[in-house]
Amino acid sequence: MLNVLRKIVQEVSVAPDLETVLNLIVRRIQRSMATQVCSVYLFDPSDQRYVLMASEGLNKEAVGSVRLSASEGLVGTVVERAEPINLENAADHPAFKYVESTGEERFSSFLGVPIIHHRDVLGVLVVQQKDIRRFDESEEAFLVTLSAQLAGAIAHAEATGSLGVMGGKDEVVDLRFEGVAGSSGVAIGSATVIAPPADLSSVPDKQAKDVDREIASFQEALKLVRRDIKVVGRSLAQRLRSEEQALFDVYLRMLDDNALAGEVVSRIEQGNWAQGALREVVTEHVRQFSMMDDPYLRERATDIKDLGRRVLAYLQEAAPAVLEFTDETILVADELTPAMLGEVPSEKLVGLVSVNGSSNSHAAILARSMGIPTIMGAVDLPLTRIDGRELILDGYSGRIYVQPGDDLLNAYRDIVRGEQEQAAELEALKDLPAETTDGYVMPLWVNTGLIADVARSLDRGAEGIGLYRTEVPFMIRDFFPSEQDQAQTYRKQIEAFAPRPVTMRTLDIGGDKALPYFPIEEENPFLGWRGIRVTLDHPEIFLVQVRAMLKAGEGYDNLRIMLPMVTSVREVEEANRQIDRAVRELQEEGHAIKRPLVGVMVEVPAAVYQVRRFARRVDFISVGSNDLTQYLLAVDRNNPRVADLYVSYHPAVLKALEYIAREAHKENATVSICGEVASEPGGALLLMAMGYDVLSMNATNLPKVKSAIRSVSRKDADKLLADVMAMDDADRIQKLINERLESLGIALPAKPVIAI
Ligand code: PEP
Ligand code: MG
Repeated sequence: MLNVLRKIVQEVSVAPDLETVLNLIVRRIQRSMATQVCSVYLFDPSDQRYVLMASEGLNKEAVGSVRLSASEGLVGTVVERAEPINLENAADHPAFKYVESTGEERFSSFLGVPIIHHRDVLGVLVVQQKDIRRFDESEEAFLVTLSAQLAGAIAHAEATGSLGVMGGKDEVVDLRFEGVAGSSGVAIGSATVIAPPADLSSVPDKQAKDVDREIASFQEALKLVRRDIKVVGRSLAQRLRSEEQALFDVYLRMLDDNALAGEVVSRIEQGNWAQGALREVVTEHVRQFSMMDDPYLRERATDIKDLGRRVLAYLQEAAPAVLEFTDETILVADELTPAMLGEVPSEKLVGLVSVNGSSNSHAAILARSMGIPTIMGAVDLPLTRIDGRELILDGYSGRIYVQPGDDLLNAYRDIVRGEQEQAAELEALKDLPAETTDGYVMPLWVNTGLIADVARSLDRGAEGIGLYRTEVPFMIRDFFPSEQDQAQTYRKQIEAFAPRPVTMRTLDIGGDKALPYFPIEEENPFLGWRGIRVTLDHPEIFLVQVRAMLKAGEGYDNLRIMLPMVTSVREVEEANRQIDRAVRELQEEGHAIKRPLVGVMVEVPAAVYQVRRFARRVDFISVGSNDLTQYLLAVDRNNPRVADLYVSYHPAVLKALEYIAREAHKENATVSICGEVASEPGGALLLMAMGYDVLSMNATNLPKVKSAIRSVSRKDADKLLADVMAMDDADRIQKLINERLESLGIALPAKPVIAI
């Protein structure tokens, strides 16, 4: 049974559209369970009913026309109870409803299983038989397992399938896709899809500008791949048996004109560019091969994928992607990386979308610091069909609208105008302190990573840098920067901010921050080799970086060094020793430097409980609440599936934040916070009340936070904290904070004025 299950799931995962998915499911289930009927009903939100979408065994005319409400018939009962119903004779059940067009009167036994995705009942799977007999327990268990496994694929096919019928790029289609709000604000613009090199799955469809040229470059790429395969085949000839050598011939034959190549050429002739045509053909063949029963033939799917990648690599090499950017570009990627952000001229980049990742992925954090509306985790967005289409991004709700109508466009244009007006008002606060109405002053610093952040931050009145993510300049290079390179980069931040403090964090790679030239492959990277663990294992990298920081700070006296992902006192002591050594070395080399302030980040639960021990060994503590939240709540900050569970106002997180400030102060250490919670007006008020000495945030939100602080008294903030700490549910806490902010006249994120 497990094999049958695996095969159905595999076939479904490569099916091209919803109709194929559903027909496949009913056919396979009917056959493998040897029943007379298998049908699937799906919820249609437009009339709030469940529609018979596919069936093997019922009258085909009924498909698409039978519609049942959530309380109608046995299907409605399965929906209502959200659990299986297994009956010996359906007609005996009080909820049984006879629908003539289906011809189901011939069938007695009935087993209906709900299809549930993220707690919603998407639909119902039904099997029926003529005999009066209950389906046995193993049959019921089989259908329940299958339904649970298929729910995600059905939801995905449903969401993406709609784009298949969406037609031209100038039509209004008003499609909506859900993602995770990554960076607030609204963007209206046209999509440009960016793909990493040789990644076939994210190659977009594009109109071929010159069909003959596309065909010629495809033929050239084929020629080069054929040559490569022959070379490899020859070089292995000595070591391979003849039947293994024959595989290379199979490989070459796959590229023949009457195989892959011919099909690609005919797709190009139909108008797709070479890369898009290649993707279409390869995907189709991979799908067919992976559905084959014969394991040998199934394996050929891998070969075709490999060939496709090779041809694509040559196509891309011959014509390096020249991305075209409109004046309002929304960059769309499967997985957004910091390097991709740099591809678009900044004056043209208005929005970002990443199919993977979540709100605290580093790409989203960078986007926030740049103030670019961003949606992460838009897992249903059909990447290959989105290029060139007009989009609205709602960075508040996490929604994407494709080719929207005028009403929606106008509603969102109003919001954009409102945002611009608000930004202009906030600009007036630039040179004023973040001071409460009763005179309490809260230092507001910024988090930086890019050079561009410096000017933006100063422009917005930042009083220091609380976190400079040094890995960002490392990520946009092809190899480790030299000591001199690093010193130059760091000096720009130090110089621009002097005499204001600049906190440089030592390299924090691992987790979701990969260096292309230093790959770390791990099953569970967030619990793996990350941050200080990597740099202590590579003293040569650590020492070079610390030396570069010290050199950059020479003559300024505003450098602070901060250590990420610390879990033990031993790590602090070791890092301290390395820093001492770097200071000594440079002094011996004649540099006029002294030891900078050193701090530890509290980002993991182990650090929370040792904060006093750390505080005794360093000058300051800074809370990395982004990681602390993920580790305390056991919620991956990158995973859109659990994005709802990643909540800064969880009582456990708030208790930890309060505890850290209190404990660190017992050792007279300065405590700051540089996680994203400090960038939210509500979060900032709570942290101020907890006694944090410095709040460090993204430059975009700094004026909003300053305005919030200037609108309250310290007493208001203390009262809010006391009320919140007495509560035990994150959603209710969020609601209370919103109400309190509203009553204090602090603006909440804008919402469009029309119902959508
Ligand atoms: C944090 O974890 O809160 C933090 C500031 O570091 P990063 O987001 O870079 O992991
Ligand atoms: Mg962190």
